[in-house]
Amino acid sequence: MPDGIESESRKLLGRLRDTMAEEAAGQARLDRITHLTADSMGTEVCSIYLFRDAETLELCATQGLNAEAVHQTRMKLGEGLVGRVARSGKVVNAADAPSERGFRYMPETGEEIYSSFLGVPIQRLGEKLGVLVVQSREARKFTGDEIYALEVVAMVLAEMTELGAFVGEGAALKARHTQPALFRGGTGQEGSAMGHVWLHEPRVVVTNLVADDPETELVRLREAVDQLRVNVDEMLAGAPGDADQMQVLEAYRMFANSKGWMRRMEEDIARGLSAEAAVEKEQSLARARMGQVADAYLRDRLHDLDDLSNRLLRILTGQGRETGSEMPDDPILIARNIGPGELLEYGRKLRGVVLEEGSVGSHAAIVTRALAIPLVIHAERITTEALNGDRILVDGDQGVVHLRPDDTVMTAFRDKMAMQAKAQERYASIRDTPCVTACGRRIQLHMNAGLMADLPSLAGSGAEGVGLFRTELQFLIRNQMPKRTELAALYARVLDAAGGKRVVFRTLDIGSDKVLPYMKPQDEPNPALGWRAIRVGLDKPGVLRMQLQALLRAANGRPLSVMFPFVAQYEEFTAARTEMDKALDRERRLGHVLPERLEIGTMLETPSLAFASQRFFEEVEFLSIGGNDLKQFFFAADRENERVRRRYDTLNLSFLGFLRGIVARCRDSGTHLSFCGEDAGRPLEALCLAAIGIETLSMRPASIGPVKSLLMRTRLDEVAEVIARAEAEGAASVRAAVMEHLRQRGG
Ligand code: PEP
Ligand code: MG
Repeated sequence: MPDGIESESRKLLGRLRDTMAEEAAGQARLDRITHLTADSMGTEVCSIYLFRDAETLELCATQGLNAEAVHQTRMKLGEGLVGRVARSGKVVNAADAPSERGFRYMPETGEEIYSSFLGVPIQRLGEKLGVLVVQSREARKFTGDEIYALEVVAMVLAEMTELGAFVGEGAALKARHTQPALFRGGTGQEGSAMGHVWLHEPRVVVTNLVADDPETELVRLREAVDQLRVNVDEMLAGAPGDADQMQVLEAYRMFANSKGWMRRMEEDIARGLSAEAAVEKEQSLARARMGQVADAYLRDRLHDLDDLSNRLLRILTGQGRETGSEMPDDPILIARNIGPGELLEYGRKLRGVVLEEGSVGSHAAIVTRALAIPLVIHAERITTEALNGDRILVDGDQGVVHLRPDDTVMTAFRDKMAMQAKAQERYASIRDTPCVTACGRRIQLHMNAGLMADLPSLAGSGAEGVGLFRTELQFLIRNQMPKRTELAALYARVLDAAGGKRVVFRTLDIGSDKVLPYMKPQDEPNPALGWRAIRVGLDKPGVLRMQLQALLRAANGRPLSVMFPFVAQYEEFTAARTEMDKALDRERRLGHVLPERLEIGTMLETPSLAFASQRFFEEVEFLSIGGNDLKQFFFAADRENERVRRRYDTLNLSFLGFLRGIVARCRDSGTHLSFCGEDAGRPLEALCLAAIGIETLSMRPASIGPVKSLLMRTRLDEVAEVIARAEAEGAASVRAAVMEHLRQRGG
């Protein structure tokens, strides 16, 4: 890079810094920047366009265009060359701008006399803030060095905007992080919460953007990168050998040693940026690219680079995670993503969680379910917009987040929460009343659980027991396979906490969507139909045996209920039961106490099991219908696929008829039957399941109140009649008919 350009660039940055330091109103600073930039670049025009809203850009300062156009000229995203830069996030460099595709000139600015145009995006950490433009009469293409120089100015502008340097005047220059912002994401866990922001990873604030002495900055950067390499090597050496984590760390190491990354930062410094500003500039570019990359693997690598930049910034600025801010009393956790272990560490303090990434089946979702707090996922950009302590409303039902809400939104949200609280009060008043329907049928309501954190809900919800304890959650939230003693201790604590209420432990159900981080992933064409649950347990019985032993030890003489997942045929049940017999034998030989009573059942999750031999129904002590899986196989509609998952109604008569067949077989063989899929927690569905004869329902704890309340107000015999009538009329689903019935009854 020619020295002259470098020193010119440094000079310009030095002047920009002086501008920052001057006591001046925001507009005066912006004006001065356009003046300095035009002067330094040797162009007649320099203009700053900033976003007024997500779709509109406004000319906010100019050197060279008509001054009257400032704060008057606006354009839509994508409109003209400025709009093109804003939309694409890419540089536009045109020697003859009027002949460019999409050129549109704004007469009030007087720009028609300028031929060449160079526009660069003003963006910070991937967020678009505006466009910086230079124009000149002479028809010429700008050189790579000139583009680079303008990008550096744009970066400084972006940082200054973040620091509030331009606040105070001018319609487009509202202070950042002060406006209400709405995020539409997805539902990770239902519920609503209001509180204040707590950032899991507080942002590093860079205040010294410009440096006088590039040599010093280069030394600082190199030392910091050396430190970073050492840290990454240490992390690699200390990693427990888990493949995914190793892969991430290897990617870190690759970046930390990447020459391209280093060279670009060194060039930034040569142009006058401080070491931390150089890191942040590269981070911003990576973030901008992240939004455009469709390939998930590459996106992950860009995320790795982003994490690495954060680490480097922390080393350079000495800012740790401790920012000095205090966690609010009502914290809503904001993070790009978070592991289950970290989330559990926050524990019950949190009111809600909002993630930029995440998924419904993610471990974070499992933990928020256990903590009974709402989770919104895919709230894009929230980590860059939210500040610690900002007020925030989380609507987990709609997947919506209001950051810094205005008064009307606050009031509406408060009303909604008050209504929910009223309903909760109603549920609390019937919490200890057994669930007996209006026609006198006793329905047992149990809860689903999987973590120790779930257990307090047993008393809180009024559940009569744990109808499904998903033991895989303990395996999923760890980085390595738990040991038998750990599991035995945990299961014993679960039984202690249940205080004599029945807990049905389901043995490890992994595979399909539940992949253990420390097990070799199976590359299966169709994992939902693949090597999962009891199939894994029987083929590789080591873990199953260890788990059965842990359960027997945990029971320590108390009654024990064990259920095998995903049994598709009689032989799988007998093979699994044989494993239990062997475990019992072993315990007996070792002189350990055996459970006072041992119940062995299976999940019914594949249609095949509904048609198993009579022997199966006679031998199995209880069955629990896993409606989530059973429904996906019945309709051949993937439960994880948003496009098809809601396509078929659980209250479809063909499915209800099928379930009724299972009820009849269980009745004939005296097999206890329950239902533990998500539908058991939906009041209307629960009502219909009870009406067709399923008398034990197991659901998430928060659903017990609403389900119980509806069941207690309703006559199941009438609902059964409504179903029969709908059937006779040839309806597809009974939903409409049952809803109409409830409406008439005032339910
Ligand atoms: C089910 O399939 O309905 C079930 C309860 O099991 P899981 O959701 O854990 O697969
Ligand atoms: Mg299942």
